[in-house]
Amino acid sequence: VSSPAELLRALVEIDSVNPTLVPGGAGEASLASAIHAWLAGAGLEVDLHEVRPGRPNVTARRKGRGGGPTLMLAGHTDTVGYDGMPDPLTPRVEGGMLFGRGAYDMKAGLAAAMWAAAQIEPGELAGDLVVAAVIDEEHSSLGTESLLARQRPDLAVVTEPTGAGLDVCIAHKGFAWGELTVLGRAAHGSRRDLGVDAIARSGHLLVELESLDGRLARAVPHPLLGSPSIHASKISGGREWSSYPGECRILVERRSLPGEAEDALAADLELLTDAASARCPGIEVRSRVDLVRPAFEISPGAELAHITRELARLGGWRSEFVGLAGWNDSALFAAQGIPTIVFGPGGGGAHADEEWADLGQLEGCAAVLEMLARTVCT
Ligand SMILES: [Zn+2]
Repeated sequence: VSSPAELLRALVEIDSVNPTLVPGGAGEASLASAIHAWLAGAGLEVDLHEVRPGRPNVTARRKGRGGGPTLMLAGHTDTVGYDGMPDPLTPRVEGGMLFGRGAYDMKAGLAAAMWAAAQIEPGELAGDLVVAAVIDEEHSSLGTESLLARQRPDLAVVTEPTGAGLDVCIAHKGFAWGELTVLGRAAHGSRRDLGVDAIARSGHLLVELESLDGRLARAVPHPLLGSPSIHASKISGGREWSSYPGECRILVERRSLPGEAEDALAADLELLTDAASARCPGIEVRSRVDLVRPAFEISPGAELAHITRELARLGGWRSEFVGLAGWNDSALFAAQGIPTIVFGPGGGGAHADEEWADLGQLEGCAAVLEMLARTVCT
């Protein structure tokens, strides 16, 4: 292929729907072997590692002379589903944009990283440049967890899209998932003497949840991320008209700021339970936290952040330090103590019926990543 845009086209043509997200989805294997072959063709030392059966991570290393830091450029190979998209796997270029599932989230970022690594000569840098293409970011980040158990780069750039001016993301929110179950007593609808209405009782929790979210909204905001939040995600309970519901289950999501405690959601669920008990003595609530993912932040003064922005500006881009609302794998790199930024080509339509990547930003990003490697791997 003759350009990053051609490379992106080839990546979008390969179905890589996350099979956990969409049962029967193609999975990452075909895309991983195409990436593996392309990077091997460019002379990198490549490795394929099965994280789950048929779902491999790819890593490719451009060996340096030795004595310099290892820079990793990381992206995910999986995409969300494409039901409802007319031609998800047939890339179409129009007005400098390439349309197709995964173009923006995040095959353009992968293409930029691959292209940059291919431009570096073997032994040109002191440190190694590593491209990592991992599985499963769209579901539970199995790929990055497995990658970081096997490798520890000195610096990392996650090439998820960061904005039209080739901005440098230095912070994003964390999230946690939990559930509250209100216990009642199932009984025939005619027997108020026996039944306890779990659905009506869960109302006490929901009123408290809303007021807790209001308090979080009034907390001192993070300069790039605003305030934390908590919301109900799904509610279920009850069987039919003629029965008292014995149980009502509420799924809850908490979005957190850098610096908040790991157990912020657990503390919130306890607080909600106590407040509901004060309103409704005898209410029985069970709470549970299912998943906690930390927030991400790196100082704008950190060398990696600063140098990347300066290189982007030299290339004529506006490049600001920004925060992203959504979570991505960069938090897992940062949690290992690895200086990390998010920096990737923009576009639009992530997870939507029309998705596109901006080809000008793709070229620009690839050029900045190449210069970044030459600057930091010395
Ligand atoms: Zn993504």
